[in-house]
Amino acid sequence: MSCGFTGLDGSYVLGALDPAEAREFEAHLAGCAACTAAVNELAGLPALLSLVDSDVLERPPPPLPETLLPALVAAARSAQRRRTAIVALLGAAAAALVAVVLVVGGAVGDRGAPEAGPTGGPSAAVARTMTPIGYEPVHASVGLTGVAWGTRLDLECTYESLPDPETRPGSYVLVVRTRDGHVEQVATWRALPGRTMHLTGATAATPDQIVSVEMRTRSGAPVLRLVL
Ligand SMILES: [Zn+2]
Repeated sequence: MSCGFTGLDGSYVLGALDPAEAREFEAHLAGCAACTAAVNELAGLPALLSLVDSDVLERPPPPLPETLLPALVAAARSAQRRRTAIVALLGAAAAALVAVVLVVGGAVGDRGAPEAGPTGGPSAAVARTMTPIGYEPVHASVGLTGVAWGTRLDLECTYESLPDPETRPGSYVLVVRTRDGHVEQVATWRALPGRTMHLTGATAATPDQIVSVEMRTRSGAPVLRLVL
């Protein structure tokens, strides 16, 4: 059993079709038992992919001989497209994992050790309290350490317990402003009521290029500031 949409099932399940293609395919599903069955078979694929070794999927497909019939070429391209969608999905999952590891690493890392000794190395961090600007129930101090690749920012952030447990605090971003006027985001996180969090931000700018560090809400409203 075959139809003009054969091969789009995998891309559809993985969300790799553009909106117009997806609508067209969904309309087709209503009248095509073969494609409906294929989609149902693949419905669990995204969850299963997290168990697959990404090396298996990232091998490039072999080039297509030009003597193949056009229909066969189309079928093979469709398979390549599915593989590309799978690799893209794994890439996104890997990026999310890296972000989590960075935050956890910052939270549990060794807080005490500067990256160079006292003899002529980069300046060690001295945590300084940030000044409140808005009315958010949050306090923080930040230390800047000059390192070979730029500046490491060690932030200690305490969010007060909220009287109403239904109220959920929002997300924050840490930005640095440099002498040339650039504003650069160096960390984002979600506040945890009643908890003190340790986060590490990073920028390629050197400490003497940084004129201020600011903590903002996700929507950009300033909350705390440290002018250097
Ligand atoms: Zn079909």
